[in-house]
Amino acid sequence: MPDKINIDSLDLNGLRSFVLQHGMPKFRATQIYKWMYHKGCESIEEMTDISVKDRATLAELCTFTNMDIADVRRSKLDGSVKVLFKLGDGEHIESVVLNDGDRFTACISSQVGCRMGCTFCATSQLGLKRNLTAGEIILQVKRLNELLAEDEYKLSNLVFMGMGEPLDNLENVKVALSILLDDNAYGFSHRKITLSTCGLTDKIEELFKMETPVNLAVSINASSQEERAKTMPVSNKYPLDKLIAVLKKLPVQKRKSITIEYVMLKGVNDTMEDAKRLAKLLKGLDKAKVNLISYNTGSALGYQPPIEKEALKFQEYLLNNKIGVYIRKSLGSDIEGACGQLRAKHDKSVEGYDE
Ligand code: SF4
Repeated sequence: MPDKINIDSLDLNGLRSFVLQHGMPKFRATQIYKWMYHKGCESIEEMTDISVKDRATLAELCTFTNMDIADVRRSKLDGSVKVLFKLGDGEHIESVVLNDGDRFTACISSQVGCRMGCTFCATSQLGLKRNLTAGEIILQVKRLNELLAEDEYKLSNLVFMGMGEPLDNLENVKVALSILLDDNAYGFSHRKITLSTCGLTDKIEELFKMETPVNLAVSINASSQEERAKTMPVSNKYPLDKLIAVLKKLPVQKRKSITIEYVMLKGVNDTMEDAKRLAKLLKGLDKAKVNLISYNTGSALGYQPPIEKEALKFQEYLLNNKIGVYIRKSLGSDIEGACGQLRAKHDKSVEGYDE
């Protein structure tokens, strides 16, 4: 008997092929989809408008993704919530809900760990354990919405900025995006979803072949190839000048922009020389806006946040060079839910584990 298939790891096209292959009418796929995503159903038996025969077939062939909430930590500073999930095989991942006024943004994970090796990022210390399935990506959104529903809130935005490099798991991420964007399922607008990458240029181009690409954020974090290769080894394979050249050619839709993420590390990439080089680098990238993110204090990785006055000078220089630039508020730092802090802390193999 072959392994059961995770029915919640199929998008509508995948589900249609699956039901047809097993002798069911095509419309079963939409029925199943609505049960799962509009009614939150996680068992075949509950799908009562599907014939008994087809329910028996589905129950025999399919299962649902198994993922439990193992821990919830709430920020006392800003209302952010960090959730630790235990996956079916015992691995753990984290997701964060960031509350910014009336917006609730889920920062979701795409991999257990990450193999990109950015030296300022806690997740990179785990290495890559495995990719998440589409079902595991989607279930984070569902479980976070269930948590928010206790206070009558719901997620308004999603960012793929949790654990992992989403473009290193592009096949599963594409299926998850298809489910998130589909009106028969979650119905998110493509404008409300942002995918953040450390710059895998070939995969960025592939992502932009989607019918309605989601927003793109690219972590640059340096103003020169030499500097970037020291903190982001991925730059050896995907050099900075080539990355910027690809970004310049992307067919970015009207009223959309590419976000350039720049985590400021004191004494590493926060000098006026860096500001000048960055302005030059981004010249001609008209659709770009820059997010300057202050590195979080309390990290065991040996970096420090910039001095506020220096960060403001950096911002001013870019503004004077007609580059849209914001200093982003870091949320969730007291629960280690801020940028680069996710590391599924239960994992005792990670240095500094102190529970
Ligand atoms: S910053 Fe992102 S790409 Fe880099 S190691 Fe961390 S999770 Fe991976």
